[in-house]
Amino acid sequence: MEATANHTQIVTGWAGKDSSGKVTPHVFKRRENGPEDVTIKVQFCGMCHTDLHYLKNDWGITMYPVVPGHEITGIITKVGLNVTNFKVGDRVGVGCIYASCLNCEFCEASEENYCDQVQFTYNGIFWDGSITYGGYSEMLVANNRYVVRIPESLPLDAAAPLLCAGITVYSPMKHHNMFQAGKKLGVVGLGGLGHVAVKFGKAFGLHVTVISTSPNKEKEAKELLNVDGFIVSTDPKQMQASSRSLDYIIDTVSAKHSLGPILELLKVNGKMVLVGAPDKPVDLPSFPLIFGKRTVSGSMTGGIKETQEMLDVCAKHNIKCDIEIVTPDYINDALSRLARNDVRYRFVIDIASKSRL
Ligand SMILES: [Zn+2]
Ligand SMILES: [Zn+2]
Repeated sequence: MEATANHTQIVTGWAGKDSSGKVTPHVFKRRENGPEDVTIKVQFCGMCHTDLHYLKNDWGITMYPVVPGHEITGIITKVGLNVTNFKVGDRVGVGCIYASCLNCEFCEASEENYCDQVQFTYNGIFWDGSITYGGYSEMLVANNRYVVRIPESLPLDAAAPLLCAGITVYSPMKHHNMFQAGKKLGVVGLGGLGHVAVKFGKAFGLHVTVISTSPNKEKEAKELLNVDGFIVSTDPKQMQASSRSLDYIIDTVSAKHSLGPILELLKVNGKMVLVGAPDKPVDLPSFPLIFGKRTVSGSMTGGIKETQEMLDVCAKHNIKCDIEIVTPDYINDALSRLARNDVRYRFVIDIASKSRL
């Protein structure tokens, strides 16, 4: 294909080739490093639930072979002629966003995530017509506009999940003014997203309550993450006892669930943000909304400027993800465990492990 004649760089990665949900080693091509581009030697890539959905074609939009991964950290090995903000050797990251129109009101406000032509880091279509391949691979070429700097004090492994899980909760928390010390925050679901939301809440001095279906998470939530309260959402007594107690709620659950009982936990005028993405409609009864003048909204990742700001905030408050590092030959086992939520709290693939041996 003419348009991709400059795709000459051979890269090794790991791709799903059918809906089995498994990856196998995969050799493919990336474009040459253009004037606005940087080339990144991938060091680590976090494993997000979204990867699993694409691998299994749960949303019916997967273009195989799919190379997942949008929580990428690494080292710059090449910079284009017009790139002034990065140099070879810099520690950088690439998250969910790989391209956008650069002309619309959202791109101009660095809210590229809401550009109607936004293209994601994998399973997207780049400007030249090629399909994008993500961070389950040894090397990446990215336009510098979509690259962020990883602050020195953050390790590249524990920082990787911040590029999706971190910004996904940070952006709405900031937008809805949730970083007010002393206020009461509820976090629904204690997985990759939830545990980072807890850390932001604690760092900003909020009283943080986890709302979970798993009573067995209470001990470590309190001991390791220092949460102030824990509500088992399947226990109506506990839910009842906490009604009208929270100022804000972040709901990170991606399985279908009813919002009604959770909304009752909010005070009058309380705000709830959905960041998990159940593929079936969630139940949203009107009474708890109306009788409590409550608000429900949604949010999808964040813009590049805000992602950089979030990383700097994490460096300042020493916020890192709790991760389990795996080698590439363990990706399929990790995917199976991710499917049953058997991870505390994010798998991160040590992509460069071979070259470090
Ligand atoms: Zn993600
Ligand atoms: Zn745009």
